[in-house]
Amino acid sequence: MNEHKKVVTRFAPSPTGFMHVGGVRTALYAWAFARKHNGTFILRIEDTDKAREVEGSIPHIIESLTWLGIEWDEGVDVGGPNAPYLQSERLESYRKYAQILIDKGYAYPDPYSEEELQELRQQAESEKKVFLYRDHRPENTEAWDGTKPLRFKVPEIKSYTWQDAVRGELSAGPEALDDFILIKSDGYPTYNFAHIIDDLEMGVTHIMRADEFIASTPKFLSLYEALDIAPPILVTLPPILAPEGNKKLGKRDGAKDILEYRNEGYLPEAMVNFLAFLGWNPGTDQEVMTPPEIIEAFSLERIHKAGAMLNEEKLLWLNKEHMRKQSHDKQLAAIKPYMPDFSEDMLSKLLPSIVDRISTYGELRSVVQPEFGFFLSRPPLEKERILYKDDEPGVALRHLQHIKDLLETMDFSTPESIKASIMPYAESEGKGNVLWPLRMSLSGQEKSVDPFTILYVLGKDESTSRIESACHILAL
Ligand code: GLU
Repeated sequence: MNEHKKVVTRFAPSPTGFMHVGGVRTALYAWAFARKHNGTFILRIEDTDKAREVEGSIPHIIESLTWLGIEWDEGVDVGGPNAPYLQSERLESYRKYAQILIDKGYAYPDPYSEEELQELRQQAESEKKVFLYRDHRPENTEAWDGTKPLRFKVPEIKSYTWQDAVRGELSAGPEALDDFILIKSDGYPTYNFAHIIDDLEMGVTHIMRADEFIASTPKFLSLYEALDIAPPILVTLPPILAPEGNKKLGKRDGAKDILEYRNEGYLPEAMVNFLAFLGWNPGTDQEVMTPPEIIEAFSLERIHKAGAMLNEEKLLWLNKEHMRKQSHDKQLAAIKPYMPDFSEDMLSKLLPSIVDRISTYGELRSVVQPEFGFFLSRPPLEKERILYKDDEPGVALRHLQHIKDLLETMDFSTPESIKASIMPYAESEGKGNVLWPLRMSLSGQEKSVDPFTILYVLGKDESTSRIESACHILAL
């Protein structure tokens, strides 16, 4: 590639269902590389296989990328100088290049019926030979009227050696070449043909895609040659492996809809961080990276050849790290919808304790009521549970009354200031003997946020009143 040529990458999904980690990672790498080089990132939709199309896929793709902050400069939704970006609307371009190939003698209509082709395939199979269409290439071809598939006539049957930016030198023998279909009888092009024309017209300089396309690369190379165009740089991304590490990720192993992660409460920046490291590393020890840091560090040289294992534990860890890095206001905004009954003031005070207890905001769904419910409504109290080990009720009562007195003059400005007022007494009387009944009378729970934070959040009046209730029960 010319050193000064502007980098242009594209993400070119087919609208055949939801986006999973593999697809999104391809988009992410293509985007990060374009951003790193101040280039252009294109979103093109490859919708030429009408039979496989799943309704709703395009909005889903757009929503997924938007959630992750992977924004495109040209493409569906936003348009651009090479519009349209939906392949089904680009048929004219494919016909134009098909005509060029026909004129050069590199394309011809396929005269066989489906049944005839099936027979030829079966025949090859029974002779234990690989079926190659070009072995049955018709001698005389008619003019193409669009009703039959148009096939590529491979100009030269030969071996290919090519460079892949990640895999290095790759090669394949002549058996990898065949007269593949360019345009089907329904008028739509095949992927093999359409992506080459689109990449050419859109000025794509780098193709990032999965390794399943390596096998077809000789076919693409022979088409580039027939059209006399220089191929873009090929960048093959490593496969994503199931957690066991020995097979490609399938739907059952967690190749789930990327938006499910959003529903589970993952942060987009954690997801981006996770996906970036699924087959790439920055060459440093830094593991928690923001999108701008990833872009800055991104390079093709550091994309791995070997498969990357999908480890959701890592994602959970990254999510917690990114949650911790968020500003107070962002954390508050994220937590609010899960805790609508809590006042802004309460949430603000509880924020560090909440963030500490969860790895995704989604976990709050199951955590709020059992762990924080007592802040809103007083817990039921039982005498036996207020007592620490075999302390007598009189002992617990004495401690609680002492703390109640301390509350009168205590500095309530932070959990630390509250702790500083209570700890000397707790340490002299026995920590468990003092803090257990205190925690119980405030929360009704054996385990909870620390009692100083509870006092801080409940405030002096409510705390005093809860301690008084406990004292009342103890005195009965
Ligand atoms: N439409 C292809 C797919 O979804 C994209 C391959 C490519 O990036 O060229 O698999």
